[in-house]
Amino acid sequence: MHTCTSVCPYDCPDACGLIVTVDGGKAVRVAGDPAHPFTRGTLCPKMAHYERTVHSPRRLTTPLRRTGPKGSGQFEPISWDEALTDIAAKWQKIIAEKGPQAILPYSYAGTMGIVQHDALHGFFYRLGASELDRTICAPAKGRGFKDVMGSTLPTAPQAAQNSDMIILWSLHMLATDIHFQHDVAAAKKKGAVIWCIDTYRNRTADTADHFIAVRPGTDGALALGLMHVLDRDGLTDKAFLKEKVLGWERLKEKILPKYTPAETERLTGVPAADVVAFAHAYGKARAPFIRLGSGQSRYRNGATTTRLITCLPA
Ligand code: SF4
Repeated sequence: MHTCTSVCPYDCPDACGLIVTVDGGKAVRVAGDPAHPFTRGTLCPKMAHYERTVHSPRRLTTPLRRTGPKGSGQFEPISWDEALTDIAAKWQKIIAEKGPQAILPYSYAGTMGIVQHDALHGFFYRLGASELDRTICAPAKGRGFKDVMGSTLPTAPQAAQNSDMIILWSLHMLATDIHFQHDVAAAKKKGAVIWCIDTYRNRTADTADHFIAVRPGTDGALALGLMHVLDRDGLTDKAFLKEKVLGWERLKEKILPKYTPAETERLTGVPAADVVAFAHAYGKARAPFIRLGSGQSRYRNGATTTRLITCLPA
């Protein structure tokens, strides 16, 4: 029996390090790598006991060809050679009759890491197939962030350990960002206050010092309400805004006057007093840290919402 290091094969940004115990050529245990800087020895439930998934008798081990009507569940196992030959013949027919753009690759990630995830792109480009912005999952969030930050990377999550105010915004950390708990715990030990903003009270909210329930799809209005109070009550860095921030004066003149605490309450459902208290805590914190999830981006205004929240640190 021996152990070796590996990497989680899923498409998750945590990119966890694994310690795999191998016995007789077979993985018998999968554990989090304690030396990995973000995993820190903890795996999420998807990967803990991954050896059971890998060796499950229910896994498909050959391609299957449908033999009955769709939905009837009738398949026969075939070899990879047969499957590849079959698919290639069908595609050649499609290309001959209708051209390569009649083929639309539609895939994303899930159980694929970044290399496998992009591995087929070259093939489909070469084929001349139709192109698709593959995912409807994360682009809104990415767009909103890039509009503000360009290609600057977000702050490393570990930096939150030095923060005195951590805001978990649209992020059910206990379910979807479990490794960040290490950083939150370290910050809490040093006295950090944790705020949680979400559309419903979940387990993560229960662990926070303050919870703000925002009406779904109105996180951007809340961000504008915070900006209004920060500006109104002199909690901004005026020199920084003047020198470094593009568009601040126009935002201040044209947009912010409308977002009074009362109007923010009307739009978001967050009581005006809480909007003010939150803005004051944020404006007065020494090193506030926003950990932004993805929930806020799952609306038609998702990119703009993310953009507004990303503006808050400035
Ligand atoms: S959190 Fe889970 S899915 Fe994500 S990289 Fe780590 S083990 Fe894999």
